Amino acid sequence: MSSECIFCRIVAGTISAKRVYEDDLCLCFADLHPQAPTHLLIIPREHIASQAHAQEEHAALLGHLMAKAAQIARGSGLDHGYRVVINTGAEGGQTVDHLHLHLLGGRHMGWPPG
Ligand code: 5GP
Ligand code: ZN
Repeated sequence: MSSECIFCRIVAGTISAKRVYEDDLCLCFADLHPQAPTHLLIIPREHIASQAHAQEEHAALLGHLMAKAAQIARGSGLDHGYRVVINTGAEGGQTVDHLHLHLLGGRHMGWPPG
């Protein structure tokens, strides 16, 4: 828990968010500035600064996040596909330094990404 971290504050409940799923390991909530008709963020409760900070000890937790992304996508009706994104570091476009998966869907996604 980092008191300066926006996502840790969402986990703690001191910043509100539209929560759609939570369990003892993770939290899923709506992105404040949606980039697609469905735009959810899935975060570990534990503060991990980025994908670049992931260690072998996080393997089960990271697998849990991916499995929950699939479950939440199914529950959100994203039957025609979706995209899971982990922006990492400055060049990766990361703006909040608490590891998070973007779950984007409801429109066609272009490639390559910007
Ligand atoms: P990043 O740019 O780090 O990959 O993604 C951070 C995401 O967090 C952005 O899509 C941004 O809109 C979202 N975000 C930033 N601050 C907040 C907030 O206070 N609440 C919610 N729900 N989303 C936020
Ligand atoms: Zn954090």
